[in-house]
Amino acid sequence: GEVAVETDVVVIGGGPGGYAAAIRLGQLGKSVVLIEKDQLGGVCLNRGCIPSKALIHTAEQFHGFTHFRKMGIHLPEKEATVDLGTWQMWKESIVSQLNQGIAHLCKENGVTVVTGHAAFLSEDRIGVETGGDFETYKFKEAIIATGSRPFIPPFLEVDGEYILDSTSALALVQIPERLAIIGGGYIGVELGMAYAKMGSQVTIIELADRILPQVAGHLVREVERKAKKLRITIKTSTRVEKASIEEREVHLHLSSELQVGEILFSDKALVTIGRVPNTQGIGLDRAGITTDEKGYIAVDSKCRTQVPHIYAIGDVTPGPALAHRASKQGIVAAEVIGGLPSAIDSPHVPYVIFSDPQIAGVGYTREEAQLQGHEVKVGTFPFRANGRALATNETEGFAEVIVDAQTHVLLGLHVVGADASNLIGEGVLALEMAARVEDIALTMHPHPTLTEGWLEAAEAALGHAIYIV
Ligand code: FAD
Repeated sequence: GEVAVETDVVVIGGGPGGYAAAIRLGQLGKSVVLIEKDQLGGVCLNRGCIPSKALIHTAEQFHGFTHFRKMGIHLPEKEATVDLGTWQMWKESIVSQLNQGIAHLCKENGVTVVTGHAAFLSEDRIGVETGGDFETYKFKEAIIATGSRPFIPPFLEVDGEYILDSTSALALVQIPERLAIIGGGYIGVELGMAYAKMGSQVTIIELADRILPQVAGHLVREVERKAKKLRITIKTSTRVEKASIEEREVHLHLSSELQVGEILFSDKALVTIGRVPNTQGIGLDRAGITTDEKGYIAVDSKCRTQVPHIYAIGDVTPGPALAHRASKQGIVAAEVIGGLPSAIDSPHVPYVIFSDPQIAGVGYTREEAQLQGHEVKVGTFPFRANGRALATNETEGFAEVIVDAQTHVLLGLHVVGADASNLIGEGVLALEMAARVEDIALTMHPHPTLTEGWLEAAEAALGHAIYIV
């Protein structure tokens, strides 16, 4: 048979989970082979977080025109256009810069990157198809980081032309006139709002009774309001039954309790109704690993699977499918392999939604905290009372702190508004350090910044905010 290359660790999948793990393993002196069948950076870099945020930023800049006049800026607004073809080149340049950065980091840390499709042959061997070749690696430990892909229901077929998934929605070279979005989760809302700002007539179809059903309703309200201003049609409690393409037009057959037989016509339809883990076709059975009925691999706090020398991280594990969770797990798995006492020791994964306004949070909502048996105090501060928010014309939203009424320990922090994605950093650190609400209230926050929203929300929870009554 084939001679296997021996290595301490193989990492399967070069996304934010896999490459972070491989780099940390290299730092810890392990020999490590990172196998990626496509591009380093995974979904996040190549067709997820980074391209979507570049698109959203472009849409925001373009839409910014609508506010220029009151600030005294006069431009020939009617002539403004967005050329998605040029945008694609810009996006490619960002992605390739980051791709090269990861390759460089791998090299500098002694990580061997192999391009090919990997599958377990046994508990300690893995086979890689690279071009026409087949290589085998014998490992002491392995990390599964094969990520996830869009879930597409059987009655839809993604063709990239009429029916899009998130990948093809980020590859368009023309702004669709009418864009239907099937699924009002964060990816659908983010991309829908971005295309609406660039001129698409957007309809979001959501099965639940509101968009962003995973997020607390009072946080979502601000986004619903803005969606209305952008003339986005939101059809909630509505199911897409069937799709057909007729005369270069997508026909979506909808059903709801109120109406059966409605057909929505659009130029393109984007399907964003969830993701499925990539755990098939990688020989899990030969390694002795089983998945749950949805295909996820269960892990313990050290990211170990049921086979103790094989780890799993990122989107293949149950929990929120987010890049920072994947990276954190990757680092934990690598450090555990390296003999360090690392573990995932907090149940809290921060989330950010790049809607307009943005939503971000960490820890419990009021309801969740109460369900956990806490008596809670809530402090809220609206950004319309914040000087910086007024000066940047971004007054929507609020910051909210959830506090245990007895101990004053922070249980959750949530923020809706401009730059919520950056603002949540303070909240994440506060929760990680088990801060009390006084820790925020006693901290001098720089003026004029949106971070003063946290200060005021903390003061409000203590009953003595300066800027609100
Ligand atoms: P992935 O990134 O999926 O990487 C897995 C890698 O494994 C892939 O490169 C794949 O090619 C490779 N692979 C799979 N099977 C094999 C095999 N058998 N052999 C070799 N290689 C293999 N998350 C955020 O935190 N913030 C965001 O703003 C955000 N925005 C997103 C926007 C969109 C449109 C999408 C789709 C996702 C977004 N995400 C975001 C989610 C984020 O992209 C994922 O959570 C993250 O990429 C998961 O990382 P991972 O390492 O687990 O897997």
